[in-house]
Amino acid sequence: MHEGWKMFTEWKGRMKLRVAFLTLGCKVNFYETEKMKRQFEEAGHTVVAFGESADAYIINTCTVTNIADRKSRKMLHRARRQNPEAVVVAAGCYADSAKKKGEADESIDLFVSNEEKNAIVEKVAAALSGRGAVWQGGLSDFERECRMTEEAMPQKHTRAYLKVQDGCNQYCSYCIIPYVRGPLKSRGIEDAAVEAAGMAQQGIHEIVLTGIHLSSYGVDFSGGKHFVELGGRPLLSLLKEISGIRGIERIRLGSLEPRIITEEFVKELAGIPKLCPQFHLSLQSGCDGTLRRMNRHYTTGDYLKRLGILRGYFENPAITTDVIVGFPQETAEDFEATCAFVKKAAFARIHVFKYSRRHGTMADAMEGQVAEEEKARRSDVLLGTAAKLEEEYKRIFAGKREKVLFEEIVRIQGKEYLTGYNERYVRIGVPVKEGDIRRCNTIGSVQVSGCLAEGLMLGDFSSCP
Ligand code: SF4
Repeated sequence: MHEGWKMFTEWKGRMKLRVAFLTLGCKVNFYETEKMKRQFEEAGHTVVAFGESADAYIINTCTVTNIADRKSRKMLHRARRQNPEAVVVAAGCYADSAKKKGEADESIDLFVSNEEKNAIVEKVAAALSGRGAVWQGGLSDFERECRMTEEAMPQKHTRAYLKVQDGCNQYCSYCIIPYVRGPLKSRGIEDAAVEAAGMAQQGIHEIVLTGIHLSSYGVDFSGGKHFVELGGRPLLSLLKEISGIRGIERIRLGSLEPRIITEEFVKELAGIPKLCPQFHLSLQSGCDGTLRRMNRHYTTGDYLKRLGILRGYFENPAITTDVIVGFPQETAEDFEATCAFVKKAAFARIHVFKYSRRHGTMADAMEGQVAEEEKARRSDVLLGTAAKLEEEYKRIFAGKREKVLFEEIVRIQGKEYLTGYNERYVRIGVPVKEGDIRRCNTIGSVQVSGCLAEGLMLGDFSSCP
């Protein structure tokens, strides 16, 4: 037996590791973190919160913008400062691109590319072999920040992400992802359904289908046709398969491209009863000139038409979106057009991003970069509009009976509430009565009366069975 391997297997039998994770970036990364955690747990190791004592810290990094790169490095450096003896692992997209560029960083012990995430346990174990990790931390800002990130994760045993697709070939002019994640890859329907069934067995009731470009699901096993030509048929087949799994009560779709929304596609979607009427349709800009420079292949007119289709088949669907402000050459008038457009589209929620340059993209080389202060101003204006639209959308539910998947009990202004989400992803809280803890991870009918706190509606069970 090879000496190194022998040492490693001996060591592996001896050591039970404490491993901590921090995830940056997209839902695909969150899904992959969950998968890596499971690999450690199945190998008998313990996953701990990022702020706790650990032998290895794994930062699942992001490289979507220069800022994401900086944040990834910042977290890696902080992990190193927290415990100089632990193994610090840079996994994922930033790790991939930094490794390719040969960037050295003494905080990082180990780079794990997206493709190597399946072998993370062996890689970490090999790096730790022969080292003794000593925890030296106390509660710090870092720990608090990490705990907040942990809280943003989907609730265990209630909702889970299911990654069904990777890679992208859309080449939006601001995005580095097609260069980092590589070409399209979709999971076979059967393989994805097996994982979904496993999730159901663990008690998960809600699945969020996710991918880097979910609308391209199946392009690689459907003769390479463009996703627009395919009309979402592979995705529909996958949805129907997962919908048939006992225990899965709800399915949500991750981000979709507007061009997948056609009458035929939506008609089929509407026939899948477990599908939640919540659609995240990336907009990015409400100005046609800006959309062209972004290399997005739709116009604002197209986009509105597609919203009309969704609203024709689903009652009050939650339509959410992303908008980038301060893209190169975006004028004050272009930005006004975006503000007017988002009001017309009546989004339920808008994620606003200030354009952030990314080396190696077309947009980085464009003239007419917008000043940071102006980006910040535009972001504030749009966030104000987004908050009003969100309030307006939520008001629709006052006086209605809603089905809520309860997740947890939270304390608000000294009182405890059982909280969860309805099918349209509106968060609803019900004052806790004795025994209500048993309702966690069950779906209950709630009469919604009004707003309880920012981002939370108030409901009660009294008039519901
Ligand atoms: S669709 Fe555009 S923004 Fe999304 S991953 Fe692909 S290139 Fe990037």
